[in-house]
Amino acid sequence: MIAEIIAIGSEMLTPHRQDTNSLYLTQGLNDLGVSVAFKTIVGDNRQHLVDAIRIALGRADILICSGGLGPTEDDLTRECTAEALGLELHTDPTTLLTLQQRFVARRMAMPSNNAKQAELLDGATLLPNPNGSAPGQMLDTTVESHRKIVVLLPGPPKELKPLFDEAVKPRLADTLPPRAMAKRLLRMALIPESQVDARTAPIYQKFTDVETTILAGSGEIQLHFICTKPTLEEAQARVDAVTELVEHEMGDDIFSSHGESLEEIVILMLGLHNQTLSVAESCTGGLLSERLTRVPNSSRSFYGGVVVYTNGVKTALTHVPVELIEKHGAVSEEVARALAEGVRVAAGTTLGMSITGIAGPTLMGGADAGKPVGLVYVGLADGEDTQVKQVQIPGDRERVRLWATQHAFELLRRRLQ
Ligand code: ATP
Ligand code: MG
Repeated sequence: MIAEIIAIGSEMLTPHRQDTNSLYLTQGLNDLGVSVAFKTIVGDNRQHLVDAIRIALGRADILICSGGLGPTEDDLTRECTAEALGLELHTDPTTLLTLQQRFVARRMAMPSNNAKQAELLDGATLLPNPNGSAPGQMLDTTVESHRKIVVLLPGPPKELKPLFDEAVKPRLADTLPPRAMAKRLLRMALIPESQVDARTAPIYQKFTDVETTILAGSGEIQLHFICTKPTLEEAQARVDAVTELVEHEMGDDIFSSHGESLEEIVILMLGLHNQTLSVAESCTGGLLSERLTRVPNSSRSFYGGVVVYTNGVKTALTHVPVELIEKHGAVSEEVARALAEGVRVAAGTTLGMSITGIAGPTLMGGADAGKPVGLVYVGLADGEDTQVKQVQIPGDRERVRLWATQHAFELLRRRLQ
C-alpha cells in the first residue's frame, strides 16, 4: 500500500512558506499502517498540477491533495483532478445551498466564483468542512484496473487537520485491509555515523521487512526502525527483534532504547542511583542547565548550576584559587577539576560537573592564547574522586558548545552505569 501526498500552492515554492500539512497527513497515514512513498509540492499551475496528479495515480494507491480548493482563479485542484482522472465535475446542490447560506448569514451576496466550491468529482463522497467554505472530497475508483483512493482537502491547516481526523481517517480505516505500524528508536551519542552503520548494517539488512533509517546530527546518531504488518503485535515483534540484536552489538553506546533524550536518561539515572547534581559552566553559558531543566521534575536530581564565565566569577562563586587559574589557564584540566569540586560543595550535591573550553573564534593573544579552538575539559566530582576528560571538538562556536554538553552527559551517564 503506497501513499502519495501532493501539497498544492505556489506560496510553498517560495522561501517564505513551508508545507506542514504533509507532515500531519503522514503521521495520520502511519497510524493506519500506511507509509508515504512520495511527497510533491506543486504551484498553482494547471498543467503542472495535472501532470503531478497523473504521475501520482501511476504509482500510488492512495493520493491525498492539500490546498487549492478555494474560490479563486488559482484554486485548480478540483478541475485538475477531474482532468487527470478523465472524470466530470458536477455541482452538489446541498453544498451549493450551504455555501449560499454562509453568505446570507453574513448579509452578503455570494460571488459567482464561489459556486465552484460546490463542484464534486463524479462518484466522490463529500466531506463537509465545518471550519471553512471548501468541503473536502474522497473518491474510491479504479484506474487501469488498479484501485485508487483520491482525497482532496482544503489547504488551511485548521481546516485540513479536523477534516482528515474526523472524515478521512475513519473511512480509510474501514476500507483498507487492517495494517499497523510499529516504530522503535535507538539513540547514541558521540559515535561516528559510519561506525554505527558498519556495526549494525549486517544485522538490520537481514530484516528486509523492517525499514531502517540512520539519522546523524547534534552529536547524536538515531537508528529508526519501522515495520508494518496486519497486526500491531506482529509489527512490534519484528522491530523488537532487530533492536534487540542491535542493542547487543552496540552495548553501552546506546543511551536510549525507546527514544528518550540524553538529558532525560541522565535525570532518570541520577534518580535511580539517589544522586544529586550541580554544574559549573564556562564556555557553554548555561546550556547544560538548560538541557537538564527541559526534563519535567528534574529538580529532584538537578539542584542548579552557575555560569562562571570570567576568571573572577570562577573564584567568587566556585572558589577556584586565583593562582591555579594564573598557572594553568582557565581552560585546563586543573581548573575543570576545581570547578566541579567547588560547585559540588557550594550546592551541597553528591555530584558536581564542570565544563571549561574554547568555543572560538579566538582573538589573537586572548586569555588562552596558544590553546586551540574546540579544546574542552569536562569534570565530574563525587567527593572522593574527580574525573576530568579532555576533548577536541571540531566545528564552529555553536557546535563546540553543544558537543561539550554531549560529552558532559556521556561522562556522567557512563559513570552512573
Ligand atoms: P482557501 O483558498 O479557501 O483558503 P485552499 O484549499 O485553496 O483554501 P490554499 O489557498 O491553498 O487553500 O491555502 C490557504 C492557506 O493555507 C494559506 O495560508 C496557505 O499558506 C496554507 N496552506 C496551504 N497548504 C499548506 C500546506 N501544505 N502546509 C501548510 N499550510 C498550508
Ligand atoms: Mg492556494
